[in-house]
Amino acid sequence: MTYETRLFINNEYVDAKSGETFSVTNPCNGTTVTEGVQAAGAEDVDLAVEAAAQAYKGWRKWSGAQRAKCMHKMADLIERDLEKFAILETISMGQPISIAKKFMDNVPVYWRYYAGFADKIGGESYPEDGDSRVKMVQYMPYGVCAGIAAWNGTHLTVVKKIAPAVAAGNTFVLKVSEKSPLGAIALGSYIKEAGFPPGVINIVSGAGVTGSLLAGHMKIWKVSFTGSTASGRKVQDAATKSNLKVVTLELGGKSPSIVFNDADLETTLTMNSRGFLSNTGQICAACSRVLVQEDIAPQFIQGLRKKFQEMSEVMGDPLDPNTFLGPLADQAQFDRVMSFLEAGKSSGSEILTGGVRKGNTGCFIEPTVFLDPDTNASIYTDEIFGPVLVVKTFKTEDEALEMANATSYGLAASIYTRDITRALRVSALLEAGTVTLNAPYGATLNAPFGGMKQSGHGRESGKYGLMDWLQPKAVVFNMDVPSKD
Ligand code: NAD
Repeated sequence: MTYETRLFINNEYVDAKSGETFSVTNPCNGTTVTEGVQAAGAEDVDLAVEAAAQAYKGWRKWSGAQRAKCMHKMADLIERDLEKFAILETISMGQPISIAKKFMDNVPVYWRYYAGFADKIGGESYPEDGDSRVKMVQYMPYGVCAGIAAWNGTHLTVVKKIAPAVAAGNTFVLKVSEKSPLGAIALGSYIKEAGFPPGVINIVSGAGVTGSLLAGHMKIWKVSFTGSTASGRKVQDAATKSNLKVVTLELGGKSPSIVFNDADLETTLTMNSRGFLSNTGQICAACSRVLVQEDIAPQFIQGLRKKFQEMSEVMGDPLDPNTFLGPLADQAQFDRVMSFLEAGKSSGSEILTGGVRKGNTGCFIEPTVFLDPDTNASIYTDEIFGPVLVVKTFKTEDEALEMANATSYGLAASIYTRDITRALRVSALLEAGTVTLNAPYGATLNAPFGGMKQSGHGRESGKYGLMDWLQPKAVVFNMDVPSKD
C-alpha cells in the first residue's frame, strides 16, 4: 500500500526542500507502515507561510457564505471517506479502529458547525456617552495562523483548530504529529477539491523542530498548540522571543475523579475503568487520579480490580473491530509508561493489578492500578498518558477538594455522586477547565474545552473556539465636527 507522504503547500503536494524524511512504525507489531514521510525544514516552513500570507489577501475578502461553502464541501468529502481516515490513524498510532471511527464521525460535524459561524461574525457599537465619540467594535482575523497537533486524536485536534480559524478568515499552516502524520497529510487533496483557494490551508509534517520553526516564525500571528506541558512551554517561549504572537495552549493533565460514598457503584466502576482506559488512557482529559471516599473504598477497589482485569481481555490488534484497548502509540510512549511503572514500584506503592507489559511484541501494557501512592511519587503527580490509574482515599468533601486541586494541572475533573447540591458545590471549587458529573470527559461541540493552571490557556470548541481566532478592533468616530450645512 502507498501513502501520501509529501507536504501540502499552495494546494499542491511537494517534496520537502530539507531533503529530510522519517518513517512511521505500526506500534501493534513494529512493522514499518511507510518510510519517506517528508520533514519540513526552515525553507519549507517559509514557503508554507508565504503561501498562507498571499492567500490571506484574497481569503479575508471572501464573504462568510463563500467560506462556508468550501467548509461544507470539505465536510461532505471527509464524510465520504471516514473509514479510510480511521484506518490511517489506527495503523500509525494504534488507536483501535472502533474508537478511530467514532472520533472521525465528529470531524464533518465540526466542519459544518464552524461553517455556520462564517457568515455570522458580527460586532458591537457603543453610543456617544458625553464624550462626542461613537465606538464600533469589529472582530478581525489574525492573518497567517498555525496549528501544532498531538497524535492521540489527530483528526479532532486538527478540525478544532482549522475549521474555526478559516471560518474567521485566517489562513493556516498545520504541523501534524510525527507519530500520526498520514491521515492529516491525506487531507490535502480534499482541501483542494473542496474549493479552498491555494495557500488557505497548508500542511507540513516533521518532528518538534518543525513545530519550533512555526512557533518562532515572524510572519505567523497566532499559534494553537496541542501537546505536552513541556513542549507548550517551549512554544510560548519561542512566540515571546520572536514576534509576540498569540498562543493557545491545550496541554496535559493529571485530572482527578472524585468518588463520593453515595455514588452509583456500577456506573462509577465502569466509568473509571472502561471510560478511563478509552484510547489506552492516552486522552488529555483522562481522570488518572481517583479519589474515593474512605467508607466505600474496599468495595470500590475490589470492583476496580475486576473491571481492569476484564479490560485486559479486550486488548489486542487495533484493526480488529472488537478490540477496545490497543498498544501505546509508539516505542517512545511505551518506554515512557514502563518507566513510570518502574518508578511506581520503587516508590513502594501497591499494585492492585497490571504493572507489566502485555505479551512480547508490540507496545502493549497491562491496564494498571496503583493504590495509595505517596503524594510526591511521580505516578501521583505526573501525567503518564497511558493505561495507569492511581487511587487514594479521602474522608471529607473538603479533603477531597484539597487533594483534587493539589496539582499544577487544571484540565478536567469528574465527580461521582447522586447528590446534585454537592455536585454543584464541588464543581464550583474545582480548578479545572471542564467538570463532568458521573462520567469521564467526552468532547462537546458547543461547550468550551481548555485548561486552567499549567494545562494551558485559550479555549477550543463552541463559539469560544471561534472567538479565539479573532481579535477585537475598536473604530472610534469623533462626532465633534461641525456640520457642513
Ligand atoms: P508533544 O508535546 O511531545 O508533541 C506535540 C506536538 O508538538 C507534536 O507535533 C510535536 O512534534 C510538537 N513539538 C514538540 N516539541 C516542540 C517544540 N519545541 N516546538 C514546537 N512544537 C513541538 O506531545 P505528544 O506526545 O504529541 O502528545 C501528548 C500530550 O498532548 C499529552 O501531554 C496530552 O495531555 C496532550 N494533549 C492535550 C490535549 C488538550 O486538548 N489539552 C489534547 C491532546 C493531547
